[in-house]
Amino acid sequence: MVKAVVGANWGDEGKGKITDTLSKEADIIVRFQGGANAGHTIVNDYGKFALHTLPSGVFYDHTTSIIGNGVALNIPVLFKEIKDIVDRGVPMPKILVSDRAQIVMPYHILFDEYEEERLAGKSFGSTKSGIAPFYSDKYAKIGFQVAELFDPEGLKEKLERVIVKKNILLEHLYHKPLLKVDELFDTMMEYKKMVETYVCDTSAFLYQAIKDGKNILLEGQLGSLKDPDHGIYPMVTSSSTLAAYGAIGAGIPPYEIKKIITVVKAYSSAVGAGAFVSEIFGDEADELRKRGGDGGEYGATTGRPRRMGWFDCVATKYGCRIQGTTDVAFTVLDVLGYLDEIPVCVGYEIDGVETTDFPTTAKLEKAKPVIKVLPGWKTDIRGIKRYEELPENCRKYIEFVEEQIGFPITMVSNGPGREDIIYR
Ligand code: GDP
Repeated sequence: MVKAVVGANWGDEGKGKITDTLSKEADIIVRFQGGANAGHTIVNDYGKFALHTLPSGVFYDHTTSIIGNGVALNIPVLFKEIKDIVDRGVPMPKILVSDRAQIVMPYHILFDEYEEERLAGKSFGSTKSGIAPFYSDKYAKIGFQVAELFDPEGLKEKLERVIVKKNILLEHLYHKPLLKVDELFDTMMEYKKMVETYVCDTSAFLYQAIKDGKNILLEGQLGSLKDPDHGIYPMVTSSSTLAAYGAIGAGIPPYEIKKIITVVKAYSSAVGAGAFVSEIFGDEADELRKRGGDGGEYGATTGRPRRMGWFDCVATKYGCRIQGTTDVAFTVLDVLGYLDEIPVCVGYEIDGVETTDFPTTAKLEKAKPVIKVLPGWKTDIRGIKRYEELPENCRKYIEFVEEQIGFPITMVSNGPGREDIIYR
């Protein structure tokens, strides 16, 4: 059976933790989109890890981890991540890299930096991992698939063609040093050495695995609101964050995805620019940021403080719908235990009209939150294993959210660890 683990919001919902927990029952975990621009933080018996490229299943020795064709593959980052976990005592994971995955080129990262610099105050708040230039090139058909590393002559010839275009931009738009084909070619040959043992036709591998009845998890990066089609365009990421794209980015039939587990955080956080209706500021935000996640809400890739807000029923209802949610995993609920009262955004007011439908970007910019305040539970709920043992106000909070978003919350996460999970 294939299950997808995806986010309903702006990312950082705790997908890594949920994937890690579900990986116990899984044979294969697949990354199907995105790149090293976002990270998952995972806490387990080996310690605390921030993963950017590896799937969150690498900590079990019974699983195979796959980098699917839809991923923006930064080869040195992958190589370093494998080394880092092995150096810290994790057994060498079984990793397969799709021969159709495309490679993040060194110049993608440079172009990302230069473009943010050029846009200055109007920038997207990119993590400068090269993701937007990478996907632009993929769809402009000047990207490089992993398989091309194994055809050095073809590779060199294509590099020569592509570099001509890149150098025109570097010279005339960005006024930066030009690229040299020979240097890039040598780098690519280094990349080849780093990945060659992992490369295969992962789509064929997964086809067979599905036939054999294996349990497969598709692990998404970021969340619904960062999807280029259905999110808060243009403040989105450059690859689809939706479970539906899991079929394409892993190379499996869409009808094989039987469960879509959408991860929803008990409050809101976001990184980068863009409208964020339930955002809070000042001391209130600092307190939640400090207590949030596991050791504070700071970006796993950049370390920058995340923007904070109350739970947003409008955004989450939409985010769950667009994912095709079958199950909601409600995370980081333990963090709210300090609050006397918990505000929740239950609607948007746009030009004097109240709505619970998530609008397009221009209207979203004008939306003001409609807040309802729920009572807090004022206790530490970590360690609780059964739903009935949660404080009444905590259960009421969960049930209120469930009713507002209209999708069943079947898992509640009450701590960062693998075992901190309550099934309903
Ligand atoms: P992802 O990108 O969706 O995997 O999310 P991140 O890993 O960026 O952010 C989630 C953060 O919350 C991490 O630091 C996790 O360790 C932590 N986390 C996940 N679930 C819980 C939970 O239920 N309680 C607490 N306190 N922290 C959690």
